Amino acid sequence: MALNSPEARDLAHHLHSYTHLPSLERDGPLVLERGEGIYVHDTHGKRYLESVSGLWNVVVGFSEPRLVQAAHEALKQMPAYHTFFGRTALPPVVLAEKLVEIAPMEVSRVYFVNSGSEANDTTIKMLWMMAKGAGEPGRRKLISRSMAYHGTTVASCSLNGKPYIGAFGLPLPEVRYVEAPHYWRNAHPGESEDAYSERLASELESLIEAEGPETFAGFFAEPVMGAGGAVPPPAGYFPKIQAVLNRHGIPLVADEVVTGLGRTGNLWGAETYAFTPDILVTSKALTSGYYPMAAVMLSPEMDRRLHRAAEEIEEFPHGFTTGGSPAAAAVALETIALITEPGGLLDNVRAVGPTLEAALRRFEDHPLVGEVRHVGLLGALEIVADKAGKRPFAPEHAIGERIVEMAYTRGLITRPIGDSVIVAPPFIITHEQIEEMTQTLGDVLDELADAATREGMGPEVLAASAE
Ligand SMILES: *Cc1c(COP(=O)(O)O)cnc(C)c1O
Repeated sequence: MALNSPEARDLAHHLHSYTHLPSLERDGPLVLERGEGIYVHDTHGKRYLESVSGLWNVVVGFSEPRLVQAAHEALKQMPAYHTFFGRTALPPVVLAEKLVEIAPMEVSRVYFVNSGSEANDTTIKMLWMMAKGAGEPGRRKLISRSMAYHGTTVASCSLNGKPYIGAFGLPLPEVRYVEAPHYWRNAHPGESEDAYSERLASELESLIEAEGPETFAGFFAEPVMGAGGAVPPPAGYFPKIQAVLNRHGIPLVADEVVTGLGRTGNLWGAETYAFTPDILVTSKALTSGYYPMAAVMLSPEMDRRLHRAAEEIEEFPHGFTTGGSPAAAAVALETIALITEPGGLLDNVRAVGPTLEAALRRFEDHPLVGEVRHVGLLGALEIVADKAGKRPFAPEHAIGERIVEMAYTRGLITRPIGDSVIVAPPFIITHEQIEEMTQTLGDVLDELADAATREGMGPEVLAASAE
């Protein structure tokens, strides 16, 4: 790493998010300079295929002139404004109308913030305020799921079903977790998907009845678990969960930050998995990452409850200075147009989704692949050291870090999460580029399999160390 190179300067003074710090010290950062379609170029001119759309979000690719133009026009017209004190610029008004029109459920009002985390935090405050306003201040508890990801602010982070939140002394005491609906990993032998979903729904109901329905404010779920490893739900899961929640008057919050606006092959995960959220949170694809923005969408009943709760103090005492930014809203409107117009990106997701699925299914015979998961333009290969026993590699082998490095060498940016390699390419990807991406991924997994054999990382070693 050359002295004063962007990489050296980054290492010196820039703190990274969710980054394995020993690997960063050893290998240095990847500094990117420009983008072109599904590819990005680093400061040395090396080109990479971005197989995960940045962080699932850059769905239009890295060089969409229409979004640049939309931002430019908005910044010229009205560069910045807020939504406090009954004031607003025009683009958030138009965007709210648009989201009401395309929502998967009846929506009467939309609230804008800057990020998915803020949207989930906002939703929690709304739920608590609604409960209090309805004379049920005891409805404080929030249900999430193991492996869930809902963000990084204090309350959103508390919903993450991951051990690292303990580093912050979280979760908040109000949070309860139910099991992640991962059929391949968690179902009993011989249990059907439907029976597994039924069991999870009755476990949820037992929790609610044991602690008292009158203590619960809401249930949060990603239609497809994203940072939990790209895990689609088993058959029947959401309708069964929804029936339990409805019986006990507990709102269902769909965190569609990953699934929203096309990723699953429909505009919304709620459509793909046949349920009706009370509140829907959308962010990542909303602006394709070109501008920060997220939205909380409220059903008529949620909107009524919030307004009733606000009567006493005559306001919703919450807001972010840059929430509802006119430039962000303009970029969102253009992104939605790109996704929904005839021949647009949603049509492409539907056209190339089967190609991705076929390409991923070819890995089912690979010695390192335990499970292949797929929906729309989202997929995962679950990496195992022992295919039959579904056993992962031991953590000290740092399989994820090795996969990233091997992929970099071949010009591929990939994202291992836990033991899964995720693919979530931009919606503009072509059939040929899907072949290129999965071919490279295959080369990486073959190299890893060779290394595992050579270095004795395989099942024999694990079996031996277990004795
Ligand atoms: C990324 C993500 C969030 C958090 O969004 P930020 O914009 O990073 O705050 C919340 N929920 C899900 C499902 C996500 O994938």
